[in-house]
Amino acid sequence: MSDGRETRAYPFDVVTLFEPLMSGYLGGSMLGRAADRGIVTVSFTDPRDFTRDVHRTVDDGPFGGGAGMVMQPEPLAAAIESVRERRAPARPRVVLLGPAGRVFDQRVAAEYAALEGGLCLVCGRYEGVDERVAAHVVDEELSIGDYVLTGGELGALVVIDAVSRLLPGVLGNATGAHEESFTGTPLLEHPQYTRPREWRGHAVPEVLLSGNHAAIDRWRQEQRELRTRARRPDLFARWARARDEEDGAG
Ligand code: SAM
Repeated sequence: MSDGRETRAYPFDVVTLFEPLMSGYLGGSMLGRAADRGIVTVSFTDPRDFTRDVHRTVDDGPFGGGAGMVMQPEPLAAAIESVRERRAPARPRVVLLGPAGRVFDQRVAAEYAALEGGLCLVCGRYEGVDERVAAHVVDEELSIGDYVLTGGELGALVVIDAVSRLLPGVLGNATGAHEESFTGTPLLEHPQYTRPREWRGHAVPEVLLSGNHAAIDRWRQEQRELRTRARRPDLFARWARARDEEDGAG
């Protein structure tokens, strides 16, 4: 029964020369189910469809010399503009994947999940994209980490996956996303165990078998703090600062 509110699918658009690289991943598991259930849509636009020459050229050598090819501005801009026209009056955030962008993390995923108009993810290839597209056509540039990939498609998949699992109805267990690493607090998740109780001489921590939920919650919080301090001192410092500010305010 409807409660009067329309449930709209979260729209992802991807501008890519290599749709087949992405469709296998998007069709499976959680993302495939989210699409089947109308929670997300993913549409593809190929810059080659916006070329004017018989060879459907999308790249050329770099001005100033150097190795490799650069994606030309016109086919890419025309592809992005076609997405904007198709989606109007909605205004998707247009995000170019690139190593020089702001770095993607769980906070950015939450910011994107809240966007009314959804996302248009633009994938570069070759040696990258003519800078005028980054400067004048897209809304922002986004990196998925300090390394260089062959193309933006893996980055687009990372973003679609991380954003989708924050949308209502995508995860089976509604509380799952709230207890995970980086969510709510900057702490990493506590360690998880399942059957058997003992495996190759390694036992599951006794407290998890105790049935004492207060003790389990305490243990899990301690583990989150210990792990984060040992493995990600940067996140631990951020968490400790927020905790101290809260204590100061309280
Ligand atoms: N010449 C560029 C440089 O040194 O910064 C790298 C270009 S890379 C080989 C080709 C494309 O892969 C980029 O245009 C971008 O779309 C994508 N890409 C590579 N690394 C990425 C990263 N860390 N995050 C997001 N996209 C990336």
